[in-house]
Amino acid sequence: MKAPKQVIEELNQLEIKMAAYKNALATMSWDGATFAPKNSVNDRAQAMGIIGGEAFKLTTSDELDELLKAIEENPQDYDKKAKVRAELLRRDYKRTTCIPVEEFMEFMSLQAKSSAAWEKAKEEDDFAYFAPYLKKVIGFVKSFATYFDSKTPVYDTLLDEYERGLNTIVLDEFFADLKAELVPLIRMASSSDKKENIERLYADFKSKKYDVNIQRELTGDLCDAISIDKDSCSYTQSVHPFTSGTHRTNTRFTTVYREKDLQMSVYSSLHEGGHAKYEMGLNPVDDYTCLSNGVSMAVHESQSRFYENNIGRSSEYSKTLYNLVKKRFPEQMAGYTSEDFFTIANRSTPTLIRVQADELTYCLHIMVRYEMEKLMFNSEIDVDDLPKLWNDKYEEYLGIVPPNNALGILQDVHWSEGLMGYFPSYALGSAYASQFETTMRKEMDFDGMLKSGDLTQINKWMSEKVHLIGSNKTPSQIIEDATGEPFSAKYYIDYLKRKYTKIYG
Ligand code: ZN
Repeated sequence: MKAPKQVIEELNQLEIKMAAYKNALATMSWDGATFAPKNSVNDRAQAMGIIGGEAFKLTTSDELDELLKAIEENPQDYDKKAKVRAELLRRDYKRTTCIPVEEFMEFMSLQAKSSAAWEKAKEEDDFAYFAPYLKKVIGFVKSFATYFDSKTPVYDTLLDEYERGLNTIVLDEFFADLKAELVPLIRMASSSDKKENIERLYADFKSKKYDVNIQRELTGDLCDAISIDKDSCSYTQSVHPFTSGTHRTNTRFTTVYREKDLQMSVYSSLHEGGHAKYEMGLNPVDDYTCLSNGVSMAVHESQSRFYENNIGRSSEYSKTLYNLVKKRFPEQMAGYTSEDFFTIANRSTPTLIRVQADELTYCLHIMVRYEMEKLMFNSEIDVDDLPKLWNDKYEEYLGIVPPNNALGILQDVHWSEGLMGYFPSYALGSAYASQFETTMRKEMDFDGMLKSGDLTQINKWMSEKVHLIGSNKTPSQIIEDATGEPFSAKYYIDYLKRKYTKIYG
């Protein structure tokens, strides 16, 4: 039997190697999304395939299995960090090795075909063309979840994959609360007397042009405003904004620059900046181990939405943003006040497309997907009936009906790739952010700080309660330890009610 010191040393070496593969893959895909020439696709795909294959071998290796067993069989010889590492690495190991190789290969090839079929179906507004692929994808996802855990209901296993500990009991309650409170709030905003003025203000703002090169400078100002260390984080543009972090000192994000849409770059930059701050704030003692990762998709999303919405779209911080924007675009901003800027940033109207949704209506888009996924995996619905169900739910929750499936059920790529159980994280992230804000309000003069534009204390709170923890705790432990109580939808609903009653009430 190996001595514990040796086991940890070998595990460290193995994780350093895994991190190197991760670094290479992330940098290549970053390059592909940003600066790489158009014709480089095949060259990069080949390189990524080979490096990805090596990384896969390492994460499923007997060597790793033996090191994990040494810790699992003699827990008394190891400290807490070692045990959490073993637990996390075992989870990944099991998820990958529980699937027979031939089935996994078959699924990989189906994924590629299914994504292509989805693209064609979306283009031609032809759900029937995509339906047989979706049926097959659901079949694979079901059997993979069962291989991993045959005792837990399939959809709970899927939810747990993206957010450890999450299940339909928690989410049913969460979405029931949201539905009860948000549907009337959205109706109120839609029929408000103030709506006409807000729409006019919004359209006027959108009619102006904002030079893309100056928008780029503004992104730098925003990084400074939320204290992003530009020596450890770079930024540029891509079609869809995203953040990629391989180490505290090696983080990048992208944003989108459109000449007629200043808000797009401002709020995407703050959103991705929030993700980047999380990656950059991980604890140095956990470097090159699986503990040095954002703990979950929803907690990651809580960071991005906190900086984008709870800070960026608050009336108190809007003054700071307004001043930053005005310095770069004095002509366009003449005639607007910082209150106008706040109102424009929070204009709400039900839309068909999730990624274009505003803060108030966003979660209802997620609720539709959650309810449909639940039905898919409880076998209570035929895939062919999904489009009608989708449209009925949009009518019920948002009061609008998609005129076709391209603007309805075919809008998201996720299901074609087998990403099921993933959507709820987006909504949970917003709710976590509001729970964090509520606790901060008890501990400091939150509004005063937003008004002053000095986020030092807020950043420090987030760093200590979330960033430095990395993956040392589970998502629910992080929420509970940071806020003194388990997760509750209440704070998010209160936050939205407060804000939208102020604007539309
Ligand atoms: Zn995000």
